[in-house]
Amino acid sequence: MKYRYPQLNAEMPCKEDVLKLTPNPAVGELVQRLAEEGVETYLDRFDAQQPLCGFGLSGLCCQRCLWGPCRIGPRALRGTCGADVNLVIIGNLLRGMAAGCAAHGRHAQEVIETVIGAAEGRIDFPILGEERVLDLAR
Ligand code: SF4
Repeated sequence: MKYRYPQLNAEMPCKEDVLKLTPNPAVGELVQRLAEEGVETYLDRFDAQQPLCGFGLSGLCCQRCLWGPCRIGPRALRGTCGADVNLVIIGNLLRGMAAGCAAHGRHAQEVIETVIGAAEGRIDFPILGEERVLDLAR
């Protein structure tokens, strides 16, 4: 069974479908073994979350302050603070981008520290490909 999200014009497979569709038989064996051991996986948690909230899927749920969460829809065209649909959606997008940049910035910092450590000889980590390092520095 697939979960359909008309808000996103998308669908996602359930656990059973993921196991049918995966080209790697080891994945099925691993997931079955984990199930026998009573270990929950992301597939179980994703199934347990269905159906996902339509407000959240549409970007119409705002949780930027403790007056919310506010859901923008026909019953309430504005959040408690007065934010309308445009402000809630762009706020969610900007917040998501800021969080994504922060998360990836951390990865970049680790790469930079590793390259510097290798260049200074503090880390036993061979630098392969001088051009790639220069690209990264740029
Ligand atoms: S819409 Fe306004 S009041 Fe509601 S959670 Fe967002 S920022 Fe807070």
